[in-house]
Amino acid sequence: MKRSGLFVAILCAGATLAPVGTHVAADEQPLYGYSVESSRAERQWEEKLRAIPKPENLRAYMERLSAHPHHVGSPYDKNNAEWILAKFKEFGLDAHIEQFDVLFPTPKERAVELVDGGPKFTAKLQEPALPEDPTSNQQSEQLPTYNAYSIDGDVTAPLVYVNYGIPEDYEQLERMGISVKGKIVIAKYFHSWRGIKPKVAAEHGAVGCLIYSDPHEDGFVEGNVFPAGAWRPKDGAQRGSVADMPFYPGDPLTPGVGATKDAKRLKVEEAPTITKIPVLPISYGDAQPLLAALGGPVAPAEWRGGLGITYHVGPGPATVHLKIKSNWDIKPIYDVIAKIPGAVFPDEWVIRGNHHDGWVNGAEDPISGQVAMMEEARALAELVKAGWKPKRTIIYCAWDGEEPGLLGSTEFAEAHYDELRANGVAYINSDSSGRGYLGVQGSHTLEKFSNDIMREVSDPETKLSAWKRAQLKEIADAKTPEKRKEIRERADLRIGPLGSGSDYTAFLDHDGVASLNIGFGGEDGGGIYHSIYDDFYWYTHFSDTEFVYGRALAQTGGTAVMRMADADLLPFEFGDFADTVQMYVKELKALAEKTRDDIRERNREIEEGLFHATNDPRHPLVAPSVESVPPHLNFAPLENGADAITRAAAEYKKAFDQASSDGGSALAAASLAGVNRMLIDSERKLTNAEGLPNRPWFKHQLDAPGFYTGYAAKTMPAAREAIDQKQWKQAEQGISAISKVLQDEAALISAAAAKLAAVK
Ligand SMILES: [Zn+2]
Repeated sequence: MKRSGLFVAILCAGATLAPVGTHVAADEQPLYGYSVESSRAERQWEEKLRAIPKPENLRAYMERLSAHPHHVGSPYDKNNAEWILAKFKEFGLDAHIEQFDVLFPTPKERAVELVDGGPKFTAKLQEPALPEDPTSNQQSEQLPTYNAYSIDGDVTAPLVYVNYGIPEDYEQLERMGISVKGKIVIAKYFHSWRGIKPKVAAEHGAVGCLIYSDPHEDGFVEGNVFPAGAWRPKDGAQRGSVADMPFYPGDPLTPGVGATKDAKRLKVEEAPTITKIPVLPISYGDAQPLLAALGGPVAPAEWRGGLGITYHVGPGPATVHLKIKSNWDIKPIYDVIAKIPGAVFPDEWVIRGNHHDGWVNGAEDPISGQVAMMEEARALAELVKAGWKPKRTIIYCAWDGEEPGLLGSTEFAEAHYDELRANGVAYINSDSSGRGYLGVQGSHTLEKFSNDIMREVSDPETKLSAWKRAQLKEIADAKTPEKRKEIRERADLRIGPLGSGSDYTAFLDHDGVASLNIGFGGEDGGGIYHSIYDDFYWYTHFSDTEFVYGRALAQTGGTAVMRMADADLLPFEFGDFADTVQMYVKELKALAEKTRDDIRERNREIEEGLFHATNDPRHPLVAPSVESVPPHLNFAPLENGADAITRAAAEYKKAFDQASSDGGSALAAASLAGVNRMLIDSERKLTNAEGLPNRPWFKHQLDAPGFYTGYAAKTMPAAREAIDQKQWKQAEQGISAISKVLQDEAALISAAAAKLAAVK
């Protein structure tokens, strides 16, 4: 589901990788969490695994799964689920479908018209079929262009251009003396998850919201447009959900519980995650006449797009009629679940997932990731036939309903909450994948683990290890000498935190299961996201055309699942984690300091008359008002919590090194089970029962999707978002809640270290 232009957050660490089948001296170093003996066996199985996935299979699966539109509620969505189920069974896996019933609106009336202030214009709201592209003409099966979970509405009002429609854009509007109260806003895609735009617009009193794809980020300014090139054509539009997922994802009617047949449901009117104002996405072809009819001040330089017009802000004279009316139906979703039972610890679950539903044909999103995961499942099933017995239970999940709101994974994670809290070792997610760099984000206790996996995978274009290529790319992108030094010298590449935008969200943020997200990207042009052109034709002309990156993704996911499932001692590591926690605390302190300095400086400028002196009466700006200077916050509890983690991590390392000495015979001890249980709990301990202030569904205290960013993570959110919003009392409360979690986590790591040290 997620795509935000640049492929951000690349990650992880190591040495160049020997091609499959060869051995290098480094192989004698046992794998982290393995004795010498079990490490040797594991390496042999992993090499076999990586030799199995075949590009031609990936291609054939994609052609089949993307042959027709397969959104929630469509015949082909169900057909795909049944086909994936049959495939899992054919591979030899124990598989079944788990169904949930969720609210899924689809539009029956849509209109966008320019009714005044310019030449009358009716938006097409339609993506044309292209003769070259054989599935683009399946119009009767395609969902129209719309934003799911927009409230119904019929409004006519003057238009205001709000740039990306994020909070800082409204601060700029205020300085320009422009209010959106009673107006319809038009915002560009990008710079936040789309659902933030109608949310912020409604908070400022707007009555309607249009979101369009500007060619500056998503069209001819970037490159040739489809079908000549990869980029978004004039009439291409981006569908997508606008439910308030940073409040809670999943079925809007069943927060916190699985949407089973007899679940207690909210009424549609009561569902808090449905938007407050109507919203529709439009193409730049449809947006151009509306924007061209705007008057008022010229848009600030950074707000201007690529349409070849002078961008004005309004309000009006362009007056727009916006109408959206949906069928508010309950639809079935089909999660396909396959299992390989664990031979030693059946109650410890390693979970791997990717969604199968698309907005339309969805070849890139999500089938590129889905087919890699299926081929991975086939490879593991082959190894089972050859005698491999994973210690832990492995569960493969092909999720439905990710696009409208992470529905399939969230309902599963809510319905199985108690089991997942008890048994979930780790969740590994993928979604759209293309060509380029291997990106990993996730739990920092799995940072070293992720780096180790990246070192095992060979990059198809350069033949470097995926780790080495990612490291060199990070050096190329680093802005400062300090950053380059860190990347070159730190043993592991940092992995970015998880915000939201795909199916890991409920596992990590609600259930507290350590999670990772993996995928390749960074070299594809992409202008077909959530349009009818995201199909087999596009993917096989402009993305991973040889399916070699798909194979690399299957190798990455498969290696990660195996290594986690087979480890003697679970490969959680706390040195990188402690380092990251310390970094987050420093960032928070710096943020509070900067906020204070900025307010002090601006107050001074107001007093000096700077805004009056620099005001151009022909293009007037309103001076900001004086703000009270924020108090100093007490960060000591957080610093003490972070230091406790650092000390506990050192104790754990000492115990680990001792247990790994002499060939790691201690690691094979049966009494390790108790230590593993504590390691599994280490992510649970980062959650608390109360959850985040004002959004209790989100339990994790170190990571959450930002309430006003949507995709992008806010780390230590209870404190950081309070500082962002200048709520100083809440910031102190957040610091206290996070400190408590850190102290509890440190105590757990210490106890695990003591237990490990006692294992003989
Ligand atoms: Zn997706």
